[in-house]
Amino acid sequence: MLYVQAEPVFVDLESLDVPHMSLEKARRSITLRTKAIIIMHYGGYLMDMPAWRELADAHGLILIEDAAHAPGLKGVGSYSHAAAFSFYSNKNMTSGEGGMLLVHDPATEKRLRLLRSHGMTTTTLERDQGHAFEYDVVELGFNYRMDELRAAVGLVQLEALSRRNRRRKELSARYRAVFSQEDRIFIPFSDEWQHCGHIMPVLLPEGAYRPDVMASLRERGVQSSVHYRPIHTLTQYRRRSSVLVCLPLTEDFGNRVLTIPLHPDMVDEDVDYVAANLISILNAHLV
Ligand SMILES: *Cc1c(COP(=O)(O)O)cnc(C)c1O
Repeated sequence: MLYVQAEPVFVDLESLDVPHMSLEKARRSITLRTKAIIIMHYGGYLMDMPAWRELADAHGLILIEDAAHAPGLKGVGSYSHAAAFSFYSNKNMTSGEGGMLLVHDPATEKRLRLLRSHGMTTTTLERDQGHAFEYDVVELGFNYRMDELRAAVGLVQLEALSRRNRRRKELSARYRAVFSQEDRIFIPFSDEWQHCGHIMPVLLPEGAYRPDVMASLRERGVQSSVHYRPIHTLTQYRRRSSVLVCLPLTEDFGNRVLTIPLHPDMVDEDVDYVAANLISILNAHLV
């Protein structure tokens, strides 16, 4: 956004239970200067796409999906003007680096194809094959091409995507079932929510000191991480803003969330091991 001189306006979450951008709070943030809405399917949990499209249309705004968590999730890309996927190595499908855009408008597609390759009107391949021997540069473009080696990796990954997503969802459901007996650990989103199991975020109880919980998990061979520290608290964004941005739910969620292991090669016993250890660590921390 900053690359095109647009000013990001951050909007608070719906709730700790539904850690998506709040539609009502977004509606109240819209001004005459607003151009676009960017939404993100946090954790791979589908946002209410028809409602967001209705909001965007009512104000003449462009709707963009950050779909980095949502490859293979049905409903992504259908209601927005553009959806951006990441194929970075820690996503549900990967080509190591790179990504993909889905757009509906043919003129936008044409422009994006120019922008990804230095704004050049023909490719080396087209010139080599004799389809073109001249080119022009018509925009300030980028080098965002995907090379063939990555594309080959991506095609193999794509074949495995639905099987792997299905397994991710089974493992998430197992975590949910185990933690449903445990009132100290809170899992966002309902069991029925449509998702593709990108990550498994849980909320720690208010008194738990997250770095200690993470260290204890590590001692027991369990990796954990945090998705995410809220963007408005990061130095680059904090120092651009002349006012102090305060998003209480986002900050509370960011302070308490912990991402525990979720990977299609895990077996059921791995889930049980992680869950049992997290519960026993919390019991030891919070006497
Ligand atoms: C990974 C990720 C990105 C960035 O993807 P890149 O491929 O590194 O550009 C953006 N948004 C979300 C939500 C992500 O998870």
